[in-house]
Amino acid sequence: MMLPISLEFFPPKTPEGSDKLRAARQQLYALKPEFCSVTYGAGGSTHTGTFNTVSEILAEGVDAASHFSCIGATRAKVCDQLAQLRAMGVKRLVALRGDLPSGYGSGGEFQYASDLVAYIREECGSDFRIEVACYPEVHPQAKSPRADLDAFVTKVKAGADAGITQYFYNADAYFRFVDEVRKLGVDVPVVPGIMPITNSSQLLRFSDSCGAEVPRWIRLRLQSFGDDSASIKAFGLDVVSALCEQLQRGGAPGLHFYTMNQAGPTLAVAQRLAR
Ligand code: FAD
Repeated sequence: MMLPISLEFFPPKTPEGSDKLRAARQQLYALKPEFCSVTYGAGGSTHTGTFNTVSEILAEGVDAASHFSCIGATRAKVCDQLAQLRAMGVKRLVALRGDLPSGYGSGGEFQYASDLVAYIREECGSDFRIEVACYPEVHPQAKSPRADLDAFVTKVKAGADAGITQYFYNADAYFRFVDEVRKLGVDVPVVPGIMPITNSSQLLRFSDSCGAEVPRWIRLRLQSFGDDSASIKAFGLDVVSALCEQLQRGGAPGLHFYTMNQAGPTLAVAQRLAR
């Protein structure tokens, strides 16, 4: 039996991108996602695109979560945007600190995602279900692995209902992370984030910057395929399906797919899991 799944999209930048995403969503709805989430560019850069995409998903009859990052934001601006989201009928948020693009000064009134979670609870009570990010392989800016665990615990104590992890390809890191947060008294679901593998150089570059590890054996195999994208996709499908099966057997409460706005790779993994 398939675990409950959720799907993550980013707001398209062009009309063609919006059309492609609409078509991808229609295919992905066959998986009956619990919700779909839409990322939010730090500093508010994608505010309109994010909110428009969230509205479209809700209008398609599917529950939608808006990601919402607080770095560089004032309380007044956050308050205004929460009112907009409430008026749109949004009931779920993924609350984040975010990363400011280089060149932006901070100047904001929130330091960490936990400050945002506390503020949303203060302003909006239980109007929103709040998911937060967590990092089985440790956030790149964390002072120490223990400090990063504590940061997740603080977000939950501030009112988060669940965690969604950064993607990883080493299931042990996830299981250990869950054990450790349980020992610290956290009992909310910790849903693993799953990144299908479709491209080698992009994945390796991106993983370096976000603190996700691509294990040596996967990296070397991917590099050995050069630009043979059929082999990369077939290998990626094997690796990611096996990871999801391991997570399912080990008791993960659901799977959150980073779809990269494409239907095919997520559907292929889901079909393997359903066999
Ligand atoms: P925080 O929880 O605030 O943590 C940031 C850093 O501060 C960590 O190193 C943590 O250990 C440390 N820290 C936290 N609290 C304390 C404290 N009290 N004292 C000392 N140190 C502390 N980015 C986007 O821009 N838009 C998105 O839509 C988006 N969606 C994401 C969805 C998921 C599921 C994930 C996993 C990440 C997402 N990101 C997104 C990336 C995220 O914004 C970055 O990883 C960012 O660097 C950290 O955000 P956070 O909410 O985890 O921050």
